[in-house]
Amino acid sequence: MIKVPQQQIPGVYHRRVGDIVVTAISDGFLDGSLDVLRNITQEEGRQILVESFRPARRTAVNAFLVYSAGRLALIETGSGNYLQPTAGKVMANLKAAGVDPVDIEAVLLTHMHPDHSAGLTDMATGQRNFPNAELVVHENEPRHWFDDAKMAGAPERARRLYFQCAREQTAPYRDRMRLFKAGEIFPGVTAIPRHGHTPGHATFMISSGKEQLLVWGDTVHVPEVQTARPEVCMEFDTDADAAAASRRKVFDMVATERLLVTGMHLHFPGFAHLARRGSGYQLIPAAWEHSL
Ligand SMILES: [Zn+2]
Repeated sequence: MIKVPQQQIPGVYHRRVGDIVVTAISDGFLDGSLDVLRNITQEEGRQILVESFRPARRTAVNAFLVYSAGRLALIETGSGNYLQPTAGKVMANLKAAGVDPVDIEAVLLTHMHPDHSAGLTDMATGQRNFPNAELVVHENEPRHWFDDAKMAGAPERARRLYFQCAREQTAPYRDRMRLFKAGEIFPGVTAIPRHGHTPGHATFMISSGKEQLLVWGDTVHVPEVQTARPEVCMEFDTDADAAAASRRKVFDMVATERLLVTGMHLHFPGFAHLARRGSGYQLIPAAWEHSL
């Protein structure tokens, strides 16, 4: 009897950048509606998705391991059990990748939203999922999400999922947080702040020798729509105008310099290039890399 597969292979994919190896780790995906889009009608948004063979807004959630100079960092931690059962797979996929969480010495966050930082701590035990890791994040993030006045002024959902989640997930790391403004935050990883989506949202440039990879964080949430129409923002952008301005800067840099990019919401494993198309852009997935 031939056995038909019942389960997908693990969401793990390696890619070399000079002497550094970057491993995409899937957290799974989140399904949602188009009513979170701003600066576009839902009908126009749906039209772009249909033309891209996407029946609905399905958002990939990715994290990335960085093996550099004999050290190991993890960019983002996925969504834990805060969002949907189709996500929260980072720990399982790390295990499938043969990674012991005790070996991760730094967790680098592009920002503190639940799909990025809610995998830091096991809330059942209150223990850190990455017991030996320092937590590395732009200084504006805790400043914003730990601000009681800002929390009090936020809608209920944002209070719970953004402010409360950021506080409780990062609490066990309080004595091991390293805040940055910009610059090198891990060997070969340089933070380039691109504020707007959140007050401390940052992108990470990974460089080794002549090779580079830009991890652009949440520059896009709905890739097909926001590359075609860079002005399109999300309901959960802290400052939509600043987010759109940051997106245009990132797009211009990536297209002009022909950079390899990846992001937390590009379809797994996410490695791609960005080509100019009229007044917008188009992501072109990078070819499969057979060897490391
Ligand atoms: Zn996100």
